[in-house]
Parts: sequence; structure tokens; C-alpha cells
Amino acid sequence: MAAEDQSASAELNNTQADPAIAGITALPDSSSKKPAKKAKTPANTAAKASEKLAKLGLRKDMDFVLHLPMRYEDETEIVSMRDASFRGGSSVQVEGVVTECDIQYRPRRQLVVTIADDSGQVVLRFLNFYGNQTKQMAVGVRVRARGELRHGFFGAEMVHPHYKIVNEGAPLPTALTPVYPSGEGVPQALLRKAIANAMTRVNWHDTLSPARLAALHLQDFESSIRILHNPPPDVDQHSLIEREHPAWERMKFDELLAQQLSLKRAQITRRSKGANALPLVGELSNSFLLNLPFSLTKAQEKVLAEIRDDLREAFPMQRLLQGDVGSGKTIVAALAAAQAIDNGFQAALMAPTEILAEQHFRKIAAWLEPLGVKTAWLTGSLKKKEKDAANALITSGEAQLVIGTHALIQDSVQFKKLGLVIVDEQHRFGVSQRLNLANKTEAGKVPHQLMMSATPIPRTLAMTYYADLEVSIIDELPPGRTPIVTRVIDQNRRDEVIARVQAAGQEGKQVYWVCPLIEESETLQLQTATDTHTMLAEALPELKVGLVHGRLKPAEKQATMEAFIRNDSQVLVATTVIEVGVDVPNASLMVIEHAERFGLSQLHQLRGRVGRGAAASVCLLLYQGPLGGTAKQRLATMRESNDGFEIARKDLELRGPGEFLGARQSGEAMLRFANLETDQWLVDKARNLADELLKNDPITVAAHLERWLGYKEEFLRV
Ligand code: ADP
Ligand code: MG
Repeated sequence: MAAEDQSASAELNNTQADPAIAGITALPDSSSKKPAKKAKTPANTAAKASEKLAKLGLRKDMDFVLHLPMRYEDETEIVSMRDASFRGGSSVQVEGVVTECDIQYRPRRQLVVTIADDSGQVVLRFLNFYGNQTKQMAVGVRVRARGELRHGFFGAEMVHPHYKIVNEGAPLPTALTPVYPSGEGVPQALLRKAIANAMTRVNWHDTLSPARLAALHLQDFESSIRILHNPPPDVDQHSLIEREHPAWERMKFDELLAQQLSLKRAQITRRSKGANALPLVGELSNSFLLNLPFSLTKAQEKVLAEIRDDLREAFPMQRLLQGDVGSGKTIVAALAAAQAIDNGFQAALMAPTEILAEQHFRKIAAWLEPLGVKTAWLTGSLKKKEKDAANALITSGEAQLVIGTHALIQDSVQFKKLGLVIVDEQHRFGVSQRLNLANKTEAGKVPHQLMMSATPIPRTLAMTYYADLEVSIIDELPPGRTPIVTRVIDQNRRDEVIARVQAAGQEGKQVYWVCPLIEESETLQLQTATDTHTMLAEALPELKVGLVHGRLKPAEKQATMEAFIRNDSQVLVATTVIEVGVDVPNASLMVIEHAERFGLSQLHQLRGRVGRGAAASVCLLLYQGPLGGTAKQRLATMRESNDGFEIARKDLELRGPGEFLGARQSGEAMLRFANLETDQWLVDKARNLADELLKNDPITVAAHLERWLGYKEEFLRV
């Protein structure tokens, strides 16, 4: 969204900027014979402009005032062309008179304008241009141009510079020029004017009192805003550009405060709803634990205790359980479900894919059914009759534990007594989908919620984006695991890789072979998987090779997975459908083709399918060169680390929080200025103040949220 317009042509259009906004009244085009609705009246131009601005989130005056520059440009000085040619790289501004203006056709159609001053000349080159630009920059006209100066075929040149036609001696700005985030058809000049207008009308009331500002060492609101939109000539330019200036700090603090307030208030609201207390850790929980073939790790014990404490309360648990792949979250979820059942309530577990839901079902049912727990299985692919049967069990309350996919949140599904909702891989679901399931209980009561994620989030992010959730972390793996050895291999060496697969098969080990992600085409992805399957089946006649992908019918998928689980097949060719949750401890070799196309967390998830048993496991990342910079870093990170938290930190560093968090974009929309890596100290301050304000100062809370979130908060509250 933060596209920058600022091409030369956009700047040209600015000169015909919107009459309504500029406060200039233009007459309707009376010479036009076309119907009136096509005429460019001030009213409909203004409407169009405000529509475009609304798309940028700019509606109320305060929205404009808080639309702060994404960067600044220095137009305060003109450099002589001779000096400019010595300053490689950075942007410079020159001014001169046009000596030549031609359209040239080689190597392609382009406008080439030469300007000269006393010291030399510079060529301005435009690959996209309007016809009238040739007239505008006729020989003899004075042009001020700003851009990166390069040494090209014609000597010093600028490609697509920003430029202005000026009179000799036209004054230079005395301060930095702000550049605003913009969108298509919204020129900078329009934004500047709209913001300046809004600033004359807005209520400058500071939501934080002078005493609070002093205690926090923060600058006041109005002067901060004014500095950012209209930097004074004597401002410390570096700190302004680097967003370290106290004016920026105030803005970052304010937005972090709004975010904390909003999330925490949502949490308070949810807490105020009642939940059924589930205090009993009874017979089922106890015999389940006694019958486990292993004992829980310390980390599992700790998070289980946290969950048990929450379930005892008469307000709903909102807990996020984070743990690296293979850390044993499933057993913790099953124990939480057992506690709900011990108290006479139903528990539901929702997973993002059928394969994953199926795995859970198989595993948890195998633990709990022998102890007399009645289960139900519900996914979209069931036949109507099976669905009806499952629904009947759920509605009557006979099914104590229900496991399934999105199908669980359909309106037709009615629980008798839902006490606990568990959502696996919660980041795969939208917030509203999660809450839909949470609404499926008696009026006035909300079920407890346990969300699970194998994408560990660094502490900073968890604290800001999940301020409304309690977080539990499983920070150790079950004993006896040998770390996975990861190798990065050029795909030319595929034959060697196939030989390794063969060797592994002969040793009785099982192998995953993951086909490349082809984002542009699902059909192509399917094709690749089928081809790879044929190729491997031919190359490895003594092994059985299975194939699983997203287009298989559920029954076929299930049959293939079951064969692999039983070790009837030794190699499983798969698209990324196996990404989450598949658990076959005997599999110890993972091959990922075109690993350079996958994201870090996805690679880590995929790799996590091996290393689940005692055997030493290997992950081979095949890549096709040449590798780009980030791809190289991703693969290097995978080779060097097995630690999900470490990998998540690296991922965050490479991608930034917006992309990293994906589905929870609602939270990201709140942070435009603060940088979670460098502004941690501000996050801490904002958290503390949010707590204090929520306790003692509802008026300030309301004013601050209104200012910073306004209409956005409605949708964040879900
Ligand atoms: P994830 O956290 O990735 O969902 P799982 O719950 O699937 O991990 O557990 C991974 C494997 O570890 C499973 O085979 C599970 O049975 C096993 N496991 C879980 N907890 C323990 C434990 N405390 N000791 C030994 N094995 C365990
Ligand atoms: Mg899991």
C-alpha cells in the first residue's frame, strides 16, 4: 500500500491538482457536448479524490494529521553540475537551461533532454513520457531536476528524475520535503494540501497529561506532529530521516500505547464473559497420565499446570501454547481435553487441514477411547449421512471429544455442553473463525480456548501482538532425540540424493520427498509431484513409493498416509500438504526440492517431520542456483540451526513483522511507525502505561483509542 508515486509524470499532474482540495474552483467544461455526468465538476472530482484518500485509510481530519511522511527529501540545495558528477550514488538536485530536447528511438522510444549550467551539462532521460513534456521542456526553459546522477553513454545523466519548471532565482525550500505513503492516483501535492487543511481544523488536545509526558520523557503531541509534517530548517535532519527524533518517538509511543490498550481492553471484555469452571482433575485425566508410555517433560508439566489453573476459573481461558515442532503439544492438548471431559463437558479440537485433523484424531482417540471416551469426527469431506451422524452425537452431548476441520464452525453444528475449544496451528485460522467456535456454547457463557502454534514468536512480538493472550511455551524437546543434520545440496547432485534415499530404505528407514512449491500454478505443482513419483518409483524398484497431494480424494489421501504410517510404503512423495503435524517416528530422511522457494518457517516445519524417533535424521535441501541474497541466508540458517525460536528470529529479521505474522494482520495494521526490533524500550513503557490507564483513567483510554484507531478498532475487537 505504501507505494510511492513521485514519478515525473505524477509530479506533472500535481500542477493540475484537485480543485476542490486546493480550494480553487474550476468551472465545468462547458465546451463538452457529452452528458453532464461525464463533465469534470468540482463536486465529482472532489468525491473521487476523497474516495481515493479513503482507500488509504484517510477519512477524518485526524487520519490525515496522523498520515506521517515515510521519508524526507532534501531539496534545500542546488549542486552545480560539475560537483554533482563527483557525488556518486545519492540523490542530488541540479538546475539548468534546456539546450536540447529530442525523442529518440534507440534502443527504445524515449525523451532525452539536456540541461546545462555554467559548470557542465546533465542528460535527463524519460522512458515513459507524455507528449506535452516535449513542449514543457522546450529549449531555453529552466528546469530543476532531482535524482540519482549516473555516468551513462551521454555523460552525466538522470533517469526519470523528479523535475520542475522554474524561473531563474526561484526560491528553494528551506527545510526537508516530506514524502508520504500514497496510492495510485494520489499525488504527493494532493496529500500535502489535504494534510495541511486538516491541520488547521483538528483538535490538538494531548491525550497524555504534561505530568505523564514529563515522567516518560516524551514530547507533546502537537509540536511533534508539526515537526514531522513541516520540518523546521534547523531540525536535526539525520534523526528525522532515521526516525529517531523525539517527535518520532512520541508517535511510536502513541501507536504502541493504542495497540496495547486495544488488545488489553478486548481481553478484559472477553474475561467479563462467564465460562464454566472446570476444576476437576478427575479419573480420566489421571488414568490417561498413568497409561502414557512416557513421562511428560518438565516443560510439558509446566504448561499443563498453567492450563489447569486457567480451566479452574469461571472466566474463559485465552491461552496460546507455543512449542517447536515435535515438542509434544498434542499430549498437552489431550490432557486439557480430558479435564473438560472429567467435568462433564465436551471438548472440540479444530485443525487447519484434513490430514492434520486426521492425525490428531488417530492419536488422541487411541489414547482416550480405551478409557471410555466417546469421540466424533467431522470434516467437510464426510458423506451427508456420516455428517448427520456426527452432528447427532455432538448435539446430544454423547460425543465428549470432537475433532475436525473448519467443518466444526458451521452453523449446523450444535454442541450440547462445549467447555473447551482447542485450535491447532492457530495462525492458519482467521481471528473470526477461531471466535466462531468459541461462540458455540450456551448463551452468556464462553468456552475456554487453547490455541497452539509451532511457529514460535520472539518475545517482543508475542508481547505486542498477543498482548490479549496468555502465552505458554514448551521450551524443551522430549528426551532421546538426536538433532537433525541438514545439508544444502545443488540439484545437479540429484543422483547422489536418490542413492541416499535408496540406502535409507534398505536400512529400514522411511523417507519424505517434498516437491517444490509452485505458487503460480497448482496444476504445475501437481504435475511435478506426479513426475517425481514416477521417477522415484522407477529409480527405486525395491521400495514402495507413495504419493500424496492436495487434489487427492480424502479417502485416497487417507489410504496413502495409512500405508506410510504402517511402513507399507517407504518413500512418500508429497506436496506441502504434509507441512504440519504429520507424525511418523520411523521417518528419518527428508528431501526438499527447490528449497530456495520456501519460507524459513515452512522449511522448519517440513524438516520437523523427521527427527521424531530415536534414529539420527537427515534433511537434504536441494536448491537450484543462482541463489538470491535472502534465499542464501534462509538456507544457511536452516543448515546452522534446529531451534525454532532462533529460526523465527531470523525469519522476522528477513521478512519484517507484517509478513511474518500473516493471518494476524489486524494487529499489524496498528503499527505503522514503531519498529519492534529497535523500539523495544518503548513497548515496555507503553505496556506499563496501558495497564495503569485501564485501571484508573477510562477517559484517557477512550480519547487515545479514538484518536489512533477510530473506526479501525471495531474490526480489531473481533
Ligand atoms: P508437536 O508439538 O509438533 O505437535 P507432537 O505432539 O506431535 O509434537 O509430539 C511429537 C512426538 O513426540 C510424538 O510422537 C509424541 O508422541 C512424542 N512425545 C510427546 N511428548 C513426549 C514425551 N514427554 N516423551 C517422549 N515422547 C513424547
Ligand atoms: Mg502438532
